Amino acid sequence: MRLHVRVEGVSTLRCQRCLGDLPHTLAIDSVVMLARDAAELERLEADPDCDVIPLENRLDLVALIEDEVLLGLPLAAMHAEGECSHGDARFF
Ligand SMILES: [Zn+2]
Repeated sequence: MRLHVRVEGVSTLRCQRCLGDLPHTLAIDSVVMLARDAAELERLEADPDCDVIPLENRLDLVALIEDEVLLGLPLAAMHAEGECSHGDARFF
């Protein structure tokens, strides 16, 4: 069984250099495979391109989407070089 997850939207991150707002466009499009048992889990995990989760009685869809969104965020949110609003603290 496969689950196609698509999330689109814009979130605002904080630039870690100038602390200004940094718009971040979310565009997540991934396929998650749901393994019904241990054998299937093992088989699917052998494929490095595959995102596999064990299928439990209840699938926590919100947690799954949250994970996908968090994985898609940059580790260090920062404006591109030279695009920071240096010393501009008007909004704070
Ligand atoms: Zn910045």
